[in-house]
Amino acid sequence: MLCGQPVVLQIPEGDNRQRKVCTGCDHIHYENPKNVVGCLLEWRGKVLLCKRAIEPQLGYWTLPAGFMENEESTLEGAAREAYEEATAQCDDLRLFAVYNLPRISQVYLMFYGRLRDGFAEANEETLEVGLFDESEIPWDELAFPVVTETLTRFYEMRDQRDRRVYSADILSKPGAAMDVVRHPD
Ligand SMILES: [Zn+2]
Repeated sequence: MLCGQPVVLQIPEGDNRQRKVCTGCDHIHYENPKNVVGCLLEWRGKVLLCKRAIEPQLGYWTLPAGFMENEESTLEGAAREAYEEATAQCDDLRLFAVYNLPRISQVYLMFYGRLRDGFAEANEETLEVGLFDESEIPWDELAFPVVTETLTRFYEMRDQRDRRVYSADILSKPGAAMDVVRHPD
């Protein structure tokens, strides 16, 4: 694709997987998992959620999260997503959990922090923002299994003030039954 010629699937010499190889210049287009960064922000015991204004899962609630950009750290990316999706500033962000999503070749790095001044506002990517108590979380209207798992783990562990980083493999599709393999703490 650098020279504009079509690519074919083949196993390059010394490799053990099929790759997209250019028929014109032999350039190998490696495709690897993408990193997604996001955050769970708390304000006076409530958690910030955003109602998605874009597909996929338009109209469903999510935690602020998105693909990392080049030349930023995971923490910077999580803070950027909070601002882009909810006009939210965060304090004391720390890594909360790492989730593998092998079905779609993504790795999520979810941070935990405090929502500064309790302020958040919807913008182009978001229909609505809200601060939810545990009893108010719209569990049936969450956009992605990774959001459900992050919130579930948060409420299980919120009274333990340690700084463990959790990890799990999330195997379920949105809307299907949860299929999560948690790794030992
Ligand atoms: Zn080429």
